[in-house]
Amino acid sequence: MSALSTSEREKLARMLSERKEPLREEIRTGLKRMRTEGYEELLSGTSDAGDRSIAKLLTDVNNAEVVRDAGELQDIFAAETRLATGTYGTCIDCDSPIPYARLVAYPTAKRCLGCQQTHETARGSAVR
Ligand SMILES: [Zn+2]
Repeated sequence: MSALSTSEREKLARMLSERKEPLREEIRTGLKRMRTEGYEELLSGTSDAGDRSIAKLLTDVNNAEVVRDAGELQDIFAAETRLATGTYGTCIDCDSPIPYARLVAYPTAKRCLGCQQTHETARGSAVR
């Protein structure tokens, strides 16, 4: 069950939708940068082991950004599916309504703050 009003739901749907295009752009830019600053390109003309590690590091960092952006885009699609099926704004773990303020801050939230903290602690990563 969701505690969201129709106008709140519409605002969140708009926020999700507006986030998609910049994300797609970031992913495109990231992929382009990976091609231009990729391993082989950075290494062209050098066989130095230090340059090799720097090049590898840059590629990994860039990859991590693209992977994170792609993950966020997937979260948005998942949130839009939940909006369409009427489960958006309901915690997937405890079925409580997720507060509107939390959804505005984090429109792809699947869990209430309590369950998210439990989930993140279990996974050993930061709460968002
Ligand atoms: Zn919960």
